[in-house]
Amino acid sequence: WSSTNFPWTKELEAKNRNKFGNRSFRPNQREVINATMSGNDVFVLMPTGGGKSLTYQLPALISEGLTLVVCPLVSLIQDQIMHLSQANIPATYLSASMEWPEQQEILRGLMSCHYKLLYVTPEKIAKSNSLTGLLDNLYSQGHLSRIVIDEAHCVSQWGHDFRPDYKNLGVLKQNFPKTPVLALTATATARVKEDVVQALGLANCIVFRQSFNRPNLRYLLRPKTKKCLEDIDNFIRTNHFKECGIIYCLSRMDCEKVAEKLRECGHSVSHYHGSMDPVDRTRVQKQWSKDKINIICATVAFGMGNLIFQTSVCITSIVGCPMLMECGRAGRDGLPSSCLLYYQYSDYVSYCENDVDCRRLLQLIHFGEMFDPSRCAKTCDNCLKELTWVEKDVTNIARQMVELVTMTGQSHSSSHILEVYRGSVSQNVKKQRHDALPLHGAGKHLAKGDAARIMRHLVTEGILIEDVKKIDRHIFLSENDLLLVLFFLYLGIHLFLICYLLFNEK
Ligand code: ADP
Repeated sequence: WSSTNFPWTKELEAKNRNKFGNRSFRPNQREVINATMSGNDVFVLMPTGGGKSLTYQLPALISEGLTLVVCPLVSLIQDQIMHLSQANIPATYLSASMEWPEQQEILRGLMSCHYKLLYVTPEKIAKSNSLTGLLDNLYSQGHLSRIVIDEAHCVSQWGHDFRPDYKNLGVLKQNFPKTPVLALTATATARVKEDVVQALGLANCIVFRQSFNRPNLRYLLRPKTKKCLEDIDNFIRTNHFKECGIIYCLSRMDCEKVAEKLRECGHSVSHYHGSMDPVDRTRVQKQWSKDKINIICATVAFGMGNLIFQTSVCITSIVGCPMLMECGRAGRDGLPSSCLLYYQYSDYVSYCENDVDCRRLLQLIHFGEMFDPSRCAKTCDNCLKELTWVEKDVTNIARQMVELVTMTGQSHSSSHILEVYRGSVSQNVKKQRHDALPLHGAGKHLAKGDAARIMRHLVTEGILIEDVKKIDRHIFLSENDLLLVLFFLYLGIHLFLICYLLFNEK
């Protein structure tokens, strides 16, 4: 699919330069475009900032007819349309909040092929008869050139953003079987992908899966102390002065406090959160897009669709509970950026407390991707450390952990299993009567971090599976018994092979 000999290649390259101002394509963009332009259904898994929008906006421009884009948020839609209209690309959207005359005018424009792209929310597809009528008409005239499902993981109940109306989008393939579908997402495990492909009816789709490694990001973790605001100030001054950044805070009040403090230190900064007056929010958006503000302090919960598209974000600092996904917002322009995480005890303890393994490796495990830590090239705090490795056989520990998962009914989180294994007598352990299990405390000699790393390794190897759908991420046994047998055989034979990952002596 990387060929430059397709009939549309010349026009594609010209429009990429002239309309979008890009000098070249990013990884997989050309391939995805060629596959969808050839009439295939395509599923694209590309990290945030990878450039997914271009993979349908360029085809929309060089294809006859209309491209329908299903997008979950009106704020994202408005942002896309603003960008497209700046590039003189005719795009519009239909939303339930529009007055009827306005909707009719847009529908007329769509019928007369005035627009190249139409954005809608999934709810609109489910509810609007006039939209269904329009799509039927366009399709029968051969003018429905492509259907794009943005944030396609919302289709799956296993994904973290399930939307019931996304589930019904399979009706599009049923009604318009000849129109190619392009499903895009930045977050899909193998299971979510299968679910999406099935629900959308994309039986023979071509799949593009891109590594989630972000080589232009460096990862630094620091414990949250009373001095962390000073530390942020210093960090910005030394590494990213006058560059753009987001600082994620846990609460709205924190956002305001952090913003105020950094303002006092001479940074141009504003807070941005859900309970702000809409007028203030628009003002901040405008200031941000005009580079009048460098730093935004925001809550993790609040969507920032309008902000993240407009300029590069260079620092992601997380005050309080670290949310790894948020790091994806940094360095979307491909330039070197930093992700600075201030952590305190939280669900992500094993990530934060792990002061040995490559941060990239730990993050990519989360996305089900294997990663050779030597490729990190010392761009995370752990790889920057000089460590001496000691090898130990951990077969028995691994076996006991798996047994414990079975004994406890495969319905508890990995941190609970680790607590039981290390002999905790916490209220929760007692309540479940797990202090009475024969393996309770069997791992009391193990350091917490080492026990967590062995558990993590069992997950990476596919022996244990974490149910990411559940908030407390239940851990259970892989159904593949053969894999289990092979794994222990492998451990037995290569006693020391796996252990280089474990037990550091500092
Ligand atoms: P995604 O939807 O995958 O998160 P976007 O489509 O929003 O990513 O693209 C992220 C940024 O990358 C945007 O600012 C976009 O203009 C830019 N971009 C996309 N493709 C290219 C390219 N080929 N060359 C340069 N910049 C690009």
